[in-house]
Amino acid sequence: MCGIVGYIGTKRQAYPILIKGLKRLEYRGYDSAGIALINGNDDLNVYKAKGKVADLESFCAEKNIEGSVGIAHTRWATHGEPSSTNAHPHYSESKNLAIIHNGIIENYAEIKKNLMDKGIKFVSDTDTEVLVQLIEYIQERKNLDLLTAVQVALHQVIGAYAIAILDKRHPDTVIAARKQSPLVVGIGDDEFFLGSDASPIIEYTDQVVYLEDGNIAVMKLGEELKVVNILNEELSPEIKTVDINLGQIEKGGYPHFMLKEIFEQPECLKNCMRGRINVEQDHVTLSALIDYRSWLLNAKRVIIVACGTSWHAGLIGKQLIETFCKIPVDVEYASEFRYRNPVVTKEDVVIALSQSGETADTLAAVELAKEKGAFIYGICNAIGSSIPRATNTGTYIHVGPEIGVASTKAFTGQVSVLTMFAIALADAKGTIKHGEYVKVVQELASIPEKITEVLKTNEQVADLARTFTYAHNFLYLGRGFSFPVALEGALKLKEISYIHAEGYPAAEMKHGPIALIDSDMPVVVIATHNAMYEKVRSNIQEIKARQGRVIALVSKGDEAIAKIADAVIELPDTMECLEPLVSTIPLQLLAYHIAVCKGKDVDQPRNLAKSVTVE
Ligand code: GLU
Repeated sequence: MCGIVGYIGTKRQAYPILIKGLKRLEYRGYDSAGIALINGNDDLNVYKAKGKVADLESFCAEKNIEGSVGIAHTRWATHGEPSSTNAHPHYSESKNLAIIHNGIIENYAEIKKNLMDKGIKFVSDTDTEVLVQLIEYIQERKNLDLLTAVQVALHQVIGAYAIAILDKRHPDTVIAARKQSPLVVGIGDDEFFLGSDASPIIEYTDQVVYLEDGNIAVMKLGEELKVVNILNEELSPEIKTVDINLGQIEKGGYPHFMLKEIFEQPECLKNCMRGRINVEQDHVTLSALIDYRSWLLNAKRVIIVACGTSWHAGLIGKQLIETFCKIPVDVEYASEFRYRNPVVTKEDVVIALSQSGETADTLAAVELAKEKGAFIYGICNAIGSSIPRATNTGTYIHVGPEIGVASTKAFTGQVSVLTMFAIALADAKGTIKHGEYVKVVQELASIPEKITEVLKTNEQVADLARTFTYAHNFLYLGRGFSFPVALEGALKLKEISYIHAEGYPAAEMKHGPIALIDSDMPVVVIATHNAMYEKVRSNIQEIKARQGRVIALVSKGDEAIAKIADAVIELPDTMECLEPLVSTIPLQLLAYHIAVCKGKDVDQPRNLAKSVTVE
């Protein structure tokens, strides 16, 4: 789930590299952090702290941080409360070994019991400690070298992991392994770097190996990187050159990553459309649609699998694909889909949406659909991540690394790709009139400028946020294409300000939520000029009649709603099917400013992780 960093070399000290790396991975969300270093006397020192990486640094201030070999971790607790004892790295009983681990060892209880029966003592409640104790037990009992002991242990383990291990008796080696949790090795000049993604590495080298499931990497000084599998078969890893630059993952002058990412959206969406919408702005080309044309043209049904914000993008995708392609679309929570034995056929196309491309539930849903013979199309952001590698084809959203835990630009990137997918497929199928197709392409190409215009409401939204910080509940209403936007607006607020919020189709209000409305209840209504305008206006009247406080998102120049609402935010006109790309922006800003007013940790909200690699 969270962050892994490793370093082994001769010329540099490990500590600063590891701490900096952990900070680069802070965006993933975590509750504690720790570091293990082998110093010149072959001592293996482990330091851990609950809280932030900065707390770990304070803890280490008086400690011996010397050494050019080390591993470090940010933990997001799954087994055992967040505490310095449960934080990683974990020692083995003899303290010869130290391990860090992302993921879950599912059969840890059984293994722990066996080891305890043999007299081994545990100090933490984690599943991770079980793994390091098992490795040591195997190593000592069978007199095996560390690599073989790791292979034997991983054979016994059920679950998901990315791990890195040090053995103080072999200070020239770091061993790492992955299964369903990402791990990247950076190759330098007689030095190796390790990261859960490339961000802790790119400052030092652009030569990386993305480990595959089942890979075990042996990073030994003086030798080339060796990658083997559990059966000790040697594999030939592909060394790739990464081209992410550091500026892309720093805050760029904004107080928070989230605000930076909200403001980046015009640029990001241009990148997303670049090379896909032609310069004349009358045609969309998606290579996946060329390469797999007949599969996609013959799809009898589309199933979208996703979680969280991506699921909301999926709901918009459903309306787009049904409207333009006339193919029925189901949108499924990946976590539900994977366990309910769904009906999936060879004529289905499954679209998997995930920013990180590592979302465990979505990946599992993909594997399941694949087994049932469906064609799988991925829409992800993180290049080379697990979901794109598991799919038949797909389209990257190309919005750059998203660091803020609450997704913003990835959402609009996903919706943009879904729009391009829907109209390109509709054009190929002949289910959209040419004139309308060209109109959507042109209008989509103009969305970045419209978002730039909406971003000018930032100050107005910040003022509004100050007025509504008191609220304990919020309601978000929208219809048609705006209903998923209401859900997404409510989710953003919940995620970062911890205010309870719900999204509803506006017409559903009278079937229940209306009972909640009183003078303390702010209601955000998306009420732009579209087919449902009059009906939504009536909903606003109903809210006002019950003293609710209305913040309305309206089309420019709408005086009628301005008269009745407590506040209005004006949006530029666009086609109804593209409105989510515009109307979602003020809702992102509203959630952001309310969270800032409340003094919350916007980029790393409590209990949340950026890349949810556990189920
Ligand atoms: N399951 C492990 C623990 O609870 C690792 C969690 C993580 O991925 O950070 O300690």
